[in-house]
Amino acid sequence: MKKIRKCASCGSYTLKEECHNMQTKSAHPPKWNPFDKYADIRRKEKGISR
Ligand SMILES: [Zn+2]
Repeated sequence: MKKIRKCASCGSYTLKEECHNMQTKSAHPPKWNPFDKYADIRRKEKGISR
């Protein structure tokens, strides 16, 4: 099973190990990410559903 990876440079998801000459990072999120939580609150305040 292939893991989905994310390019930190362009932000696109890929199955490749590299993108834009950079090593991609695993797109699987950690159990708890404070940045994600705050981002979610910020999106709700602005009314952006995404
Ligand atoms: Zn890229």
